[in-house]
Amino acid sequence: MSSDGYNAPIFRGRRRGVLLALSSPSGAGKTTLSKRLLSQNPDVVLSVSATTRKPRPGEVDGQDYHFISVDEFKAKIEDDEFFEWAEVFGRYYGTPKSPVMEAVEDGRDVVFDIDWQGAQALAAAAPEDAVRVFILPPSLALLEDRLRKRGQDSPDIIKDRMARAKDEISHWHEYDYVIVNDDFARALEKLNEILHAERLKRQRHPWLEEFVDAIMDQ
Ligand code: 5GP
Repeated sequence: MSSDGYNAPIFRGRRRGVLLALSSPSGAGKTTLSKRLLSQNPDVVLSVSATTRKPRPGEVDGQDYHFISVDEFKAKIEDDEFFEWAEVFGRYYGTPKSPVMEAVEDGRDVVFDIDWQGAQALAAAAPEDAVRVFILPPSLALLEDRLRKRGQDSPDIIKDRMARAKDEISHWHEYDYVIVNDDFARALEKLNEILHAERLKRQRHPWLEEFVDAIMDQ
């Protein structure tokens, strides 16, 4: 045993990344929040889902989504390439598996912009790594207003989205954290606080085992 603790070897292994699932009804600001979180944290990557829906104006293939055909999507289901997938508004959405596991083992955090079904599937598949955050709008009227102003959806789709928003919100209690997005800057700050605290959790630092053994042996 060493008498001088200052000579103790320091083990600093890589931490495991956080799988941060963000859900909210459409229009509650989740996409903007996740983009800002990414731009502020270089170790965070976004999981790019595959979808069979058409790109909206301004959306980029491979960046916002991998826009693929129904046949391609079904082939990927067959080949077990998705962590999880779901049918939403008659379109398929799925989370590609391999980039996520590579990132998490490599100590990078992955943000998922997914609905409650996806968040639930992710937490079931990776219970130690997944953290679920729900973003609530301050009111439903504001949500509808934001959807209208976005100008991307027809009134029928907006009606559908509002019905789905209520359904999505009904799952809020399944989440580890809930943020009310009434003030964007504050909501972003809270999201950063969640990420940074979660990074420090014991289970994300497997190197601690060896570190503690080493200091106990001195
Ligand atoms: P949008 O068409 O507005 O981009 O997305 C519609 C819904 O599908 C949103 O609630 C979004 O979070 C969800 N979604 C996007 N990607 C995925 C995914 O990979 N899996 C699941 N389960 N839902 C997703």
